[in-house]
Amino acid sequence: MNNDGPRMFLGCLILIVGSFFVFILWLSPGWSESYDEQYTTATYIAIAVLIPLILLIGGGLLMSGNSDTQSLRLNQKDSDKDIMNEIDIKYIRLAIEVAQQARDKGNHPFGSVLVDRDGKLLLQAENTVITERDCTGHAETNLMRLASKHFDSDFLASGTLYTSTEPCSMCASAIVWGNVRRIVFGLSGKDFHELMGIEVTLQLSCRELFATANRDIEVVGPMLEEDAIKVHEGFWNERKIDANNL
Ligand SMILES: [Zn+2]
Repeated sequence: MNNDGPRMFLGCLILIVGSFFVFILWLSPGWSESYDEQYTTATYIAIAVLIPLILLIGGGLLMSGNSDTQSLRLNQKDSDKDIMNEIDIKYIRLAIEVAQQARDKGNHPFGSVLVDRDGKLLLQAENTVITERDCTGHAETNLMRLASKHFDSDFLASGTLYTSTEPCSMCASAIVWGNVRRIVFGLSGKDFHELMGIEVTLQLSCRELFATANRDIEVVGPMLEEDAIKVHEGFWNERKIDANNL
């Protein structure tokens, strides 16, 4: 990063000074008494040796500066990705904790959280299907209801919704209507149904549903599935009858 500026400056300097030197050389009467001989000698030296050499060195240094800039950008991207990944992991863990809180209250073990573009926690919501006797009380739908009350849709477009298990089609639709454009989920819907032995109620994955939307929605997941499955363990096999109300 620190070598980038000086290297490009040196490249430019060599090109400018070198070109000036060749120009002076060409004008210099000292090379020859006659104009023809001066022109021939200077042109030969300039074209055959000096100009390619100067272009090679100066251009090489400039290219090297550009290449450093590119690798810097790549490194910067990687570093942004790492930071994003740390934030993603942090909030997927929180969504799983919220799912555990839902379970502790007698609801289905699902939780989700909403985070702004700077990684600040805005809202969190649990599943409330049992305690509220509300078949639409899924964590993500509850979260989107809250989000719409608190924030406008332009603001929500820059946020990220984290959820312990992949959103069902109802919740994914609520996410579309609420205009959140980035979703990170822990356990995939497919693995959830397979591992818990629960029949799938709605077949579309959230990616398939988002693909039908009139806007781009980024989906990350599954993430931390081993952690995300734990909150479901021992819950569904005792309550297979509730699976119809997922
Ligand atoms: Zn749902």
